[in-house]
Amino acid sequence: MLIVQKFGGSSVADAERVFRVANRIVDTYRQGNEVVVVVSAQGDTTDDLIDKANEINPNASKREMDMLLSAGEQISIALLAMAIEKLGCPVVSLLGWQAGFLTNSTYSAARIKTVNSERIRAELDRKKIVIVAGFQGINKYDDITTLGRGGSDTSAVAIAASMRADLCQIYTDVEGVYTADPRKIPSAKKLEEITYDEMLELATLGAQVLNNRSVEMAKKYSIELEVLSSIVHAPGTKVKETVKMEKMLVKGVAKDLDIARVMIVGLPDEPGVAFKVFSRVAKAHVNVDLIIQSVGRDGTKDITFTVKKSDAQKTVDALQEYCDHLGAKKLYFETDVAKISVVGAGLETHEGFAARMFEALSDKNINIQTISTSEIKVSVLIDDADADVATAAVHDAFFGE
Ligand code: ADP
Ligand code: ASP
Ligand code: MG
Repeated sequence: MLIVQKFGGSSVADAERVFRVANRIVDTYRQGNEVVVVVSAQGDTTDDLIDKANEINPNASKREMDMLLSAGEQISIALLAMAIEKLGCPVVSLLGWQAGFLTNSTYSAARIKTVNSERIRAELDRKKIVIVAGFQGINKYDDITTLGRGGSDTSAVAIAASMRADLCQIYTDVEGVYTADPRKIPSAKKLEEITYDEMLELATLGAQVLNNRSVEMAKKYSIELEVLSSIVHAPGTKVKETVKMEKMLVKGVAKDLDIARVMIVGLPDEPGVAFKVFSRVAKAHVNVDLIIQSVGRDGTKDITFTVKKSDAQKTVDALQEYCDHLGAKKLYFETDVAKISVVGAGLETHEGFAARMFEALSDKNINIQTISTSEIKVSVLIDDADADVATAAVHDAFFGE
């Protein structure tokens, strides 16, 4: 079998863990498999590199940030390869460009265009274990790019798709995908399996255990993913197209703190205003999430929407001139908000889920600012100070005894 194994930063944080991971890889190899390994930067390396950059220039170009951050993975592939050498197995480490990762040129959030896996194939044919740096590629100008935080998951799935691997295993520091972050909610339960669509929602809504782009790509190429522990030998969670019918219709609760709320007060209540507001936001390359527009009153209306925290200032800047021109009363953003979501494919066909969530919040006297629903999720915006209590209460409402 051709197996792709991805190990996250905490799984290779120190020498002992590097050897533990190396042993796993060697076991898989000695069972007669071809093994391609994707690895992230050790522990907090990526955060530390960002801190270093901020000391020098907080407004550094994204090109130079990518040059810097890609170094984290260069260290971990070399160390892991050295550990495997020591265990007596043939091995080679490859940077993103050597492994054939061609991306677009959106530095720090690059998208993979193709993975030309010829070099990886050749190394496997030489009976080597191949260790690839996650999170990075090269663009058409031969510049190093990175895929955005958590991007190594996507690197692994991209290799699995390009080489038609039999299996893609994502090893991390928890035993699988849980009904909530098991580090925050001790009663969270491990899921045996989950659909791509549910996992995509959970990942997008704040469950960082898998990067959402990796799930999107796995769905597109029908790559079966398995999320499992790099420390404990235990069955993990399978992410796939369909799962057997279960009693559990809600699959999980997610919390997202990386949210800002942008508010425009006193816009003229006329056709075309929302269109012009959001086309300006789109032009600034900002993704918008929950949107509410108030009912028009006295010829004016308000528009509120959410964006990522790092995009809030950019959004206000992009709208300032237009809002002034329209005579809007106020344009501002707030960052003290959190989004709590429940996800499950059963939501659309079963009534009462939203009410159960709202009841749990009401019991804790937590005010809901905005609500948004889709076929497989219900999300609410609340004060960020309430986020942990809210997550625990909502989780308990669905998964408590
Ligand atoms: P890695 O370094 O292996 O990529 P991450 O830190 O990116 O690991 O993701 C694993 C973390 O995701 C876990 O330690 C856990 O705290 C967090 N997490 C959040 N939501 C969930 C969830 N629903 N199930 C499992 N883990 C979750
Ligand atoms: N090292 C990168 C990060 O911390 C990529 C990853 O871990 O997936 O975001
Ligand atoms: Mg990760």
